[in-house]
Amino acid sequence: MKRYNTIILGAGASALMFATHQRHHNMLMIDTNLSVGAKIKISGGGRCNVTNRSVSSSNFVSSSSRSIEPILERFTQLDLLEFLNSNGVYPKIRTDGQYFCTKSSEEIINMFKKLTSHVDLSLGTKILEVEKIDGEFVVTTTGGKFGAKRVVVATGGLSYTKIGASDIGLQIAAKFGHTIVVTKPALVGLTLQPPQFWFKELSGISMRVALKVKEKSFEGDLLFAHKGITGPVVLNGSLYWERGEIVLDFLPKLNIVKMLKGSKKQLSTLLPVSKRFAKEFLKSIDLDDKSANRLSSSEIERLKLIHNYSFAPSGTFGYTKAETTKGGVSLDELDLDSMQSLFVDGLYFIGEVTDVAGELGGYNLQWAFSSAYLCAKSMA
Ligand SMILES: Cc1cc2nc3c(=O)[nH]c(=O)nc-3n(C[C@H](O)[C@H](O)[C@H](O)COP(=O)(O)OP(=O)(O)OC[C@H]3O[C@@H](n4cnc5c(N)ncnc54)[C@H](O)[C@@H]3O)c2cc1C
Repeated sequence: MKRYNTIILGAGASALMFATHQRHHNMLMIDTNLSVGAKIKISGGGRCNVTNRSVSSSNFVSSSSRSIEPILERFTQLDLLEFLNSNGVYPKIRTDGQYFCTKSSEEIINMFKKLTSHVDLSLGTKILEVEKIDGEFVVTTTGGKFGAKRVVVATGGLSYTKIGASDIGLQIAAKFGHTIVVTKPALVGLTLQPPQFWFKELSGISMRVALKVKEKSFEGDLLFAHKGITGPVVLNGSLYWERGEIVLDFLPKLNIVKMLKGSKKQLSTLLPVSKRFAKEFLKSIDLDDKSANRLSSSEIERLKLIHNYSFAPSGTFGYTKAETTKGGVSLDELDLDSMQSLFVDGLYFIGEVTDVAGELGGYNLQWAFSSAYLCAKSMA
């Protein structure tokens, strides 16, 4: 059995950042994929939304009462950008504050390949089990057994199994006595109940809306899809949605009552939305497409629903479409100065496998990188 100082389980975002900052160790990185950074490659539509102008713990969901702010502060978005710049990668900021690679995610993957050339790689290798025998970790894989003093679990979330995602990190955590916060797909489209099936008639249409779920509000694009609703604003809403109602304002920033005043225009022409949406919406509230000045006061009341359309989605599009996983290894049983298990010496958990999920906009990669950096530095 070959022995290492540290074995990193996974070769994704957090594993690569960890390995970069552990230069002097004899290390092995294991991944089922044939190349490193598979999720980085597809992230941000292939251009990797690597971080955001503004990052704080309020952009993340975790069921722990312990704050992740100190971890984010230890390696902020500015530290990340400086790190990327100093290694020849210059992400560009968009007007919405999100940073993307200028050409493709490969810029980041290639950077990490260079920075982790000191690490042994076992790619195309599935991790099957981790045990601790006589003080040493034994990692069983489809490529044989490896021994290590330390194991860093960086196996990510459950979405996109076609590029290697699995629950092995959660299995390892549970085996060593850790609590697993129930996992759910997040940053994902929402499916509909019969009263909202009229949305399906609008498949392909995108519109700017405001969405409210519990105390959180987002404004952005909603895309009507055959399966339900998706688009950035819905993905963000899904992070906070736990069954129950969400509220859509289909005309944020506009006052429908003011708009109707004195107008002789037919509703479907007057409303600044696509004609198809206007017609289906009017049908759903049982209102004829008539001139604005012919509406009764009760009809105007019904029309006001365009600002306050509440309904309960039936579920999500699931892990195959989700950009992240809510839940995971509880933060309550980790040392948040190092990400080490409070139960098992030498066992660490970083990145999406932990019970931290971020909003859309570069937050999940920032978490993967911040938690990995902290972990690596704690061992230095
Ligand atoms: C389509 C899509 C787009 C996204 N876009 C963005 C974005 O633009 N910005 C952003 O911030 N976040 C984005 N995310 C989320 C982000 O990519 C992840 O949160 C981040 O990669 C998590 O890093 P990680 O190191 O924890 O896990 P990962 O990067 O997922 O790495 C985990 C690795 O572990 C390996 N692994 C798992 N199980 C096993 C096993 N049993 N044996 C061997 N290997 C195993 C996997 O193959 C994988 O390579 C996106 C996610 C998806 C799915």
